[in-house]
Order: sequence, then structure tokens, then C-alpha cells
Amino acid sequence: MIYLHDTTFVDWKSLRIRRGHLEVSEGRGGGIRFVSRLPRGARALDCEGRLVTKSFVIAHHHLYSALACGMPGPARRPNHFPDMLKLVWWKLDRALDKEMVRSCAQAGGIAAAKAGTTFIIDHHSSPNAVSGSLDIIASALDEIGLSHLLCVELSDRDGKAKREAGLTETDRYLRKRRGLVGLHASFTVGDELLERAVALASSRDTGIHIHAAEAVDDEEACVREHCARVIQRLARTGVLESPKTLLIHGLHLNAHERSLFRSSRAWLVQNEESNQNNAVGGFDPKGLGDRLLLGTDGMHGDMLASTRAAHLAAQARGGMTPLAAYRKLRRAHDYLSTNGFDGDGDNNLVVLDYAPATPVTERNLAGHFIYGMNSSHVRHVISNGKIIVKNRRMTLVDEDKILKEAVKQAERLWRRL
Ligand SMILES: [Zn+2]
Repeated sequence: MIYLHDTTFVDWKSLRIRRGHLEVSEGRGGGIRFVSRLPRGARALDCEGRLVTKSFVIAHHHLYSALACGMPGPARRPNHFPDMLKLVWWKLDRALDKEMVRSCAQAGGIAAAKAGTTFIIDHHSSPNAVSGSLDIIASALDEIGLSHLLCVELSDRDGKAKREAGLTETDRYLRKRRGLVGLHASFTVGDELLERAVALASSRDTGIHIHAAEAVDDEEACVREHCARVIQRLARTGVLESPKTLLIHGLHLNAHERSLFRSSRAWLVQNEESNQNNAVGGFDPKGLGDRLLLGTDGMHGDMLASTRAAHLAAQARGGMTPLAAYRKLRRAHDYLSTNGFDGDGDNNLVVLDYAPATPVTERNLAGHFIYGMNSSHVRHVISNGKIIVKNRRMTLVDEDKILKEAVKQAERLWRRL
């Protein structure tokens, strides 16, 4: 049990503000309650009136790209999205070995935690070091104190042996821990792999995690090779039947695909900054309903930044209120709770050093989330009732040692590119 002394607590659902002391119980089933005074000798963190609210969830991340920042650029400028994958991202993931995968998970996990994240849904790729990779990532995140839902992005892009290794790793991991069944994207996934992935997900009572219509090329290849558009192909294979399924991007969906998605049980994750970075188009929520989440797509671990990016991009497409953007950030909690994925209970909290020049009220809080707050305001982070970041420093791991090692691994990785 820990106590947060003198909080200005913001209920993430109602945005109601209440000042007081909080008792936070530890563990995945733990919760919070207000207490009028702290017990004698209690383990307490003095919040000195700071804002305290629920921490954040990254609904789509690629921790494997945590060592990409500052890496050498491609030999030539990519002409289109598949070119970008070949020249940049597939070169990077093929070069990863186990030591690098570990450093990616550690460094990416620390960055996310320090930005107020306590739950990461990750889509992993290291085709030449796939065996055991999910265990490496899981233990790195466990050590930091983060909850997670992992998968390997299965694909036919590197041939049969790599595909089988990915399936074996997925099956092995799901036998002992919860996770999802990852697929790269329709255009690199053949019918046999797609069917086996859906069968595996169904046998482990989980969903599929797949990039869908990120670029127009994904749709064109699907029509060419499968006589269907991406969402039609996924729908007829059963991918959309699980409420645990996550479709990523969905930028190039036509009206029929939007209605197929909307009438399904799957969720869709928007990643605005990555879409801008890869120049693949912008996200249009029209006709998609409200099972929409936000991710970072490996760009960083900062959900406040992702929310602001989604909000700003929406202004050119009919607008979005700060409250609607805030609600989108928070939909990930609904995805996790309705699917019974624990680790995201009320005892996951962020304490913010946020002292703006304007009044903070229940009615304008969403505006503060979008225009005022950023990850530099994150002072303490509590994950499942445990303090994992205190005064901006990791409490459970030696971050200086980890980052020093990450720099070494990044240098090794970049030499291979
Ligand atoms: Zn992605």
C-alpha cells in the first residue's frame, strides 16, 4: 500500500476534480480510495497539490525501433511506402539480434514510462532473432514495471523458414502468457499464413494485431492478388470477429470497408505522426464508429504527443474538439477492460507537475490535456500500485546503465545498416 498525500485528483472518465489524499493498493487487482488522513508510518509520496490522474496506454507501438533515432538515412530517398519499408524499416528489423532487441525494449520502455505510460501494446519484428524475442521484451518491460500485450508481426516477406519461426515463437509465448497474434500487413501475408494466424488466435482466445490499409499499395496488392479490398479479405477470414483484434492505420478504406469494420467487433488504431513521417496519407474517422484508439507506431512513447498530433491533423478534416481528442486517448482503457486484459486498473496513475497560467476546471481540462500538458510534466508514475518513476527517475531499474548499453547496441546496429 502506498499513499499519495495532497493530490488534485482528476477522474479520467468524468474529468471531475477532487482534492485529497489517496490510498493506492498494489497489484493487478488493486485500486484507489480517498482517505481523510494517512496512517502513522505510511509509505507516502507528497504530491503537494499536483494533478494526479490515470496513466496512459500505447495502443500500437514498435519497441524494436527504439534505437532508430539518429540512425544513418537510406542510400536514396524512398519513392513510395513499400520502398520506405525496404530501404529503412525492413533493413532495421533484419539487423536486430537478441542483445539489440533487449536494449530496444528497455530503452523504449523507459521512454514510455517517463512519458506517463503504464501499458504498451507492442508489434514486434526481428526476423533474424525471433526465437525467444517476446520473452526478452516481456522481461524488460516487467522489470521496468510496465504491463504489456505483445506479438510478433508474422509475414511471408522473408520466406517460409522465417514465417514458421515467427509462428513457433507466437505459439510458444501464448501458451504461457497473454498476447496477440501479430501480422505485418495484408500485402506481405499469404492466405495460408492468414488462416493459420486466425486459427492460432482463436485457439488461444485472443485477437489479431495487423497493419491495414496504411498505404494505398496495401489495397492495390489485395485487389490484384485476392480480388478483394483489405478489410473484405480480413473479414472473410474471420480476423474481425474477435473484439481483441486491432487494425492499425486504416487510411485508405472505402465506404464499404468502413461499414464492414463498423459492424465488426474489431478496433482500429490511429498513428498520426507516423502517417506523416511515411507520407502515406491522413486518417479519416468517417463511418468508422467509436472503436478508435491512438498509438505511436514506434515513433516514441509519448501518448500526450500522439493525442495532440491526432487533434491537430483533424482540424483540416472537419475539426475535432479537445474533449473528443481526450476521449480517443482514453478509449484504450475500454479496449483493455472489456477484453479482460488486466494491468490497467485504477491504481495506474501519473502525477503531473502542471502549473498553467490559466484556470484548470472540470469543463476545460480536455483543453489543458491537448494544448498545455506534455510529457515533461510527468513527475511520478505508478503502475499497478507501484511507483515506477519518482521525481523523473526510474525506481526499479538502473536507467543510466541501460541507456549506456543502449548507445552501445545502437552503434552496433547502425554499423549493420
Ligand atoms: Zn505499426
